[in-house]
Amino acid sequence: MKIAVIGTGYVGLVTGTCLAENGNDVLCVDIDKNKVDQMKAGTVPIYEPHLDVLFERNIKAGRLNFTTNLKEGLDFGEVIFLALPTPEDEDGSADLKYVLGVAKEIGEYITTYKVIVDKSTVPVGTADLVKSTIEMSCKTDFDVVSNPEFLREGFAVDDFLKPERIVIGSSSERAIEVMQRLYQPFVRSGNPIIIMDEKSAELTKYASNSFLATKITFMNEIANYCQKVGADVDKVRIGMGTDSRIGKRFLFPGIGYGGSCFPKDVKALHKSGKDINYYFKILEAVVEVNEHQKTILFPEVSSYFDDNLEGKTIAIWGLAFKPETDDIREAPALYMIDKLLEAGANVKAFDPEAMENVKEKYGDTLQYGKDMYEVTEGADALLICTEWSIFRTPNYNLLKSNLQNPVIFDGRNLYPTVELAKQGIHYISIGRQKV
Ligand code: NAD
Repeated sequence: MKIAVIGTGYVGLVTGTCLAENGNDVLCVDIDKNKVDQMKAGTVPIYEPHLDVLFERNIKAGRLNFTTNLKEGLDFGEVIFLALPTPEDEDGSADLKYVLGVAKEIGEYITTYKVIVDKSTVPVGTADLVKSTIEMSCKTDFDVVSNPEFLREGFAVDDFLKPERIVIGSSSERAIEVMQRLYQPFVRSGNPIIIMDEKSAELTKYASNSFLATKITFMNEIANYCQKVGADVDKVRIGMGTDSRIGKRFLFPGIGYGGSCFPKDVKALHKSGKDINYYFKILEAVVEVNEHQKTILFPEVSSYFDDNLEGKTIAIWGLAFKPETDDIREAPALYMIDKLLEAGANVKAFDPEAMENVKEKYGDTLQYGKDMYEVTEGADALLICTEWSIFRTPNYNLLKSNLQNPVIFDGRNLYPTVELAKQGIHYISIGRQKV
């Protein structure tokens, strides 16, 4: 099939590349000329494991191409994917200006039947809104499908190639047939393509992300409570997770969720409820608890240094909002950096993939290390904000000789408390018993 993907961020570029990998001809459109030039020159503009191999292979095969020209994309594709940003607006709602802006242009440009597929995360009713926006200036036949994306950054290629499910929201038999044909190669192992109406599909995405954010937040509250009563959240987590109704995943406490999805999606669902006088009390609590969770580690750092961080140097491991991505949007590490700088500390930062994005934001205000140990040289303490696997089994002797004080503040509970006590390292983590 001939596919156009509008927006080549984490979702769009993975979608385009993986569709090309399955033999489709894909033209990716982005307004960011720099990005398009980079991609045309064969460079993947984001870090996403395994994406580079597929990207290169499909460009070479001539199945994956790039342009800044939307009209060219619309002429090319039988199916038009919208993978555009839906950022948080000032009032917490999802800002639809990118999606509706492109919808307006679609209305002006298309001259043959197209299936317009909304992959962006959007509030209930957006498919109708996209349809009416296109109809304002369009006489050609078209269908709008809601096809929310469930890929996880860091596993995006795998998630796209072998999805647990595909959700298609449409009331058009013709569009459903096209979508089923397109996705069939991705579900050969038997995972379902779930067909539903547009509104239910739109809500499925918000409900899934809000549920996951709630699950993490619930565990963060349990961890905070453990800290107060002397229980150990690791033991509680393992005890809970063996119940198959609960499951072992997503029970790890930490310094809050971040990223480009959970924070904005929880708020957007809450706001869409509020707009029709339905109050998602649980989501209000999730937002509030998560904001608080980002703040819980800083006072520990501060009080260790008698509330005087002026001139102290803090090494940070992990800047991305989670491992295996370079995405720093709403990353808890950024909160910690801001607080440390505000208190007069120097920050030496390291992340395996997110350094460039952090440099763009902070410039020379921070020092950056070539590797994880270099930032600890001469630092007064080590702070861990992201659970990259390379941080999991560090050389403790090297760390102790590098750091001025053998102290680690761990926002991701990476190390066994007993081991760290044996190593003579003062170790502060989240919701665990002190040894
Ligand atoms: P992103 O910010 O990484 O990428 C969006 C891209 O769209 C950018 O390259 C931008 O230049 C481009 N763009 C903006 N306006 C454009 C226009 N008018 N024409 C062409 N291109 C334009 O965003 P993302 O993380 O890929 O997310 C896209 C959507 O998918 C959002 O709604 C998001 O909530 C949703 N989503 C994201 C993830 C994720 O893990 N990132 C997962 C599932 C769903």
